[in-house]
Amino acid sequence: MKTIGLIGGMSWESTMEYYRILNQKVKEKLGGFHSAELVLYSVDFEEIERLQHEGDWESLTKLMVEAAKRVERGGADFLLLCTNTMHKMADEMEKAIQIPFLHIADATAGRIKNAGLKKVGLLGTRFTMEQDFYKGRLIKKHGLEVIVPYDEEREMIHHVIYHELCLGEICDSSKEAYLATIKRLVEQGAEGIILGCTEIGLLIKQEDVSVPIFDTTLIHAEAAVEYALTRD
Ligand code: GLU
Repeated sequence: MKTIGLIGGMSWESTMEYYRILNQKVKEKLGGFHSAELVLYSVDFEEIERLQHEGDWESLTKLMVEAAKRVERGGADFLLLCTNTMHKMADEMEKAIQIPFLHIADATAGRIKNAGLKKVGLLGTRFTMEQDFYKGRLIKKHGLEVIVPYDEEREMIHHVIYHELCLGEICDSSKEAYLATIKRLVEQGAEGIILGCTEIGLLIKQEDVSVPIFDTTLIHAEAAVEYALTRD
């Protein structure tokens, strides 16, 4: 089994999900007392969140590159960055290490294409929904059609991520608001919905939604287990 490298803590609420899923999937596949071999470097999210909202992506890039190197030095065979938003720095991180980097958007796009879908709605932080690093990759590299919520909806989605989900708060009213946005995206032609923020799966479940959902936390963790258990 390869050693899975994780950069977590963004937020730790979702990193716990990664840890649980990785271990559950390894056990499912290998049985007995098997569990995931992994190295986790978990950041203090306070600083990250502040720098994001100040738009200081240069400092964030330095922090993420350093985090990637730490995980590599810790003995990981490949790297997972446990947040969609911070994939904005994926290229710089990938260049700074020798081990493979499993990109969350690539794993997700693979699942969408396997499901035979083409047009998807994307929920995530404002950074993820609005900037090119994520949406652009899905469109240009994977040929998907990606629609995002309207401006006020994006504001609400973003606010709930940083003021509730990343703080471990799950509110019924926010779930209703998310579901209304999802319903509208489906009416606009979305054949599936990407939960493009690693905490959204804590709020929205498949049974709540009429079209397939693509939970990036689950998909990313499953892809990691598959990779970890594949012989070179
Ligand atoms: N976990 C979130 C994501 O997947 C947001 C937290 C962050 O800004 O990293 O984008």
